[in-house]
Amino acid sequence: MSHTFTPEVIAEIQARARLGGGEVRGWGARRAVPCFDDLLILTASLPLTSVEAYREPGETRTVLGTRYAAEPVVLDIPITIAGMSFGALSASAKEALGRAATMTGTSATAGDGGLAPRERDAAKTLVYQCLPSRYGFDPDHLRAADAVEIVLGQGASPGGGVLLGQKITTPVAHMRDLPEGVDQRSASRHPDWHGPDGLRVKIEELREATSWRIPVYVKIGATRVASDVRHAVEAGADVIVVDGMQGGTGAAHEVFIEHTGIPTLAATRLAADTLRRLSVEREVQLVVSGGIRSGADVAKALALGADAVSVGVAALVALGCNATSDDTGADVSLGYRALGTVPGACTACHTGGCPVGIATQDDMLADRLDPDFGAERVANYLRALATETAMLARACGKASVHDLDTGDLVALTVEAAAMARVPLAGTSWIPGAP
Ligand code: SF4
Repeated sequence: MSHTFTPEVIAEIQARARLGGGEVRGWGARRAVPCFDDLLILTASLPLTSVEAYREPGETRTVLGTRYAAEPVVLDIPITIAGMSFGALSASAKEALGRAATMTGTSATAGDGGLAPRERDAAKTLVYQCLPSRYGFDPDHLRAADAVEIVLGQGASPGGGVLLGQKITTPVAHMRDLPEGVDQRSASRHPDWHGPDGLRVKIEELREATSWRIPVYVKIGATRVASDVRHAVEAGADVIVVDGMQGGTGAAHEVFIEHTGIPTLAATRLAADTLRRLSVEREVQLVVSGGIRSGADVAKALALGADAVSVGVAALVALGCNATSDDTGADVSLGYRALGTVPGACTACHTGGCPVGIATQDDMLADRLDPDFGAERVANYLRALATETAMLARACGKASVHDLDTGDLVALTVEAAAMARVPLAGTSWIPGAP
């Protein structure tokens, strides 16, 4: 068997020959890349001692947008819910995510296509997005939000995502002002400005529209992180959101998902170092996303310099994605089989045929997700992440999760040590460091 032309590569070539194009699918990169699993946490030892939970439970409170906004976003936990659109997700899923955010004292994010009313009602703290497509963008919704996020890119699809026609039902078409049932490619760049000077003007416009009340986040897909972060800071961003290449998508071309961007691990350190070099560390907060799964991932991201993380795919998994049964208790294995997959390996969000009612606009499928049960599961998951993060911080002798730093980390591999700029475990060697 050839190592170059493996059975998977042969199948891909045959599919391209048949279809005249590459695969479009949901989720994020399948390939293995250096990630937070390649870092380990050094817990306290002499002269530092760990913090007892009964004395100090561990501070997880997180404030975003302290630079210019009159009303920064105050969260109970350093974990937010990433932007996912109504259209990519069902109304029930959006409502469940909004409720879970409220139950855990964190924020939900609207996503492309405008504000789903059920999500605004459910989420006490909501981040509204200003995306290149401008689908459903409404200044009244902007003013009703608690923060606005200008999306310049995302980790999984820096060239713009896709919404296939089967998900453009009447309500989605109405919100986005699109024809029903016709495939749409999301725009990849903003229509009214190009470059850093235009970003500065856009940020000022959004501040004026919201009376300088709410924070302005700028979200970038992790590619040229250092220069993007510098430009965003100089343009006046309050918060920088960096989405690594493991970030998820509702539907994007496989060639983007697997072959563009840099890992979240590398992007986190690059972004944090850039903020430090610009002397705005902690003044401009850093949120990172892309493959965050556990409290260990959260703790490592914070230690590398993030102020908070954002979860997308993991929140959907907590909601019921890839589960074997739905909220009525029915076995949904046949639904996965119809999509050519099995529970635990499904990435078919683009099809609209989600067996558990999350990534669909089919009312019968959407009814399989109960927003109450779903919200409870996501809230449990977010609480578990926050608890694990606080436990790890205390074990490192830190009373606040925001006191974790790079001195608490070592790397298992040379690659991770070079990207995170922390020593290889058992050595004091940081590859590439002077
Ligand atoms: S179960 Fe639904 S949400 Fe999860 S990957 Fe499959 S289609 Fe997407």
